[in-house]
Amino acid sequence: MSEWEQLKEWAHAVDFEKAQVQALTLDQLDAPVPSPRQIFAIGMNYKDHAAEVNISLPTTPAVFTKYVSSLTGAIAIVELPSESVDWEVELVAVIASGGRNIPRESALEHVAGYMVGQDLSDRDLQFAGGAASQFSVAKSYKGFAPTGPWITSSDQIEDPSDLSMRCSRGDQVLQLGSTKNLVFDLPYLIHYLSSVVELYPGDLIFTGTPDGVGFGRSPKEYLVPGDELISSIEGLGGIRQRFVSRGSSAA
Ligand code: ZN
Repeated sequence: MSEWEQLKEWAHAVDFEKAQVQALTLDQLDAPVPSPRQIFAIGMNYKDHAAEVNISLPTTPAVFTKYVSSLTGAIAIVELPSESVDWEVELVAVIASGGRNIPRESALEHVAGYMVGQDLSDRDLQFAGGAASQFSVAKSYKGFAPTGPWITSSDQIEDPSDLSMRCSRGDQVLQLGSTKNLVFDLPYLIHYLSSVVELYPGDLIFTGTPDGVGFGRSPKEYLVPGDELISSIEGLGGIRQRFVSRGSSAA
């Protein structure tokens, strides 16, 4: 049994009324899974988002990776490498028990829990490669994969396919969506990914973003130094990033 499965069993059984809980502040929390073996991310996986960027709905999941070195925790300062950095609030699933050829029907039994994630994206670099667009590198600058604030264990979330989600910048609400608008739901994604690669305990899946990204606006809007982005998902809490110009962060 993987340690992730043991943690999942503990989380399902623990009596929080009696547990000794030490309160931590959000900025004390690092990325809940700081070094997963694999990170999967899915593009154009919301009907509303595919429409806003004028891309027809994919018939198979559009899979890329965010490299592990881009992970941060819930509260972070992120340097902007360009003037075309965009936001994407996403439901992130943590795999407890991996495997190959996982049936869709039992796929959610392989999930340890859920987090809020941001799939920060440098749009100019993302589309710089023409036909071979550069999703993975464009979404993997330092700090471009915030996750957290913690892992909500899977027993706490009755249905991951019906969670409202929100992303705002200061007073401006940027994204309001629901995981019920996913093109490929999480059970299908686990089934599909495991039909190609082996999933490992602790792997992350960024499941895609709803509409409201800066790239889909007219005119386009991107993050600027001083912006603060707050992303939250029903039942999972929220994460916050503050953006600074390149080279100005001490980190
Ligand atoms: Zn995304």
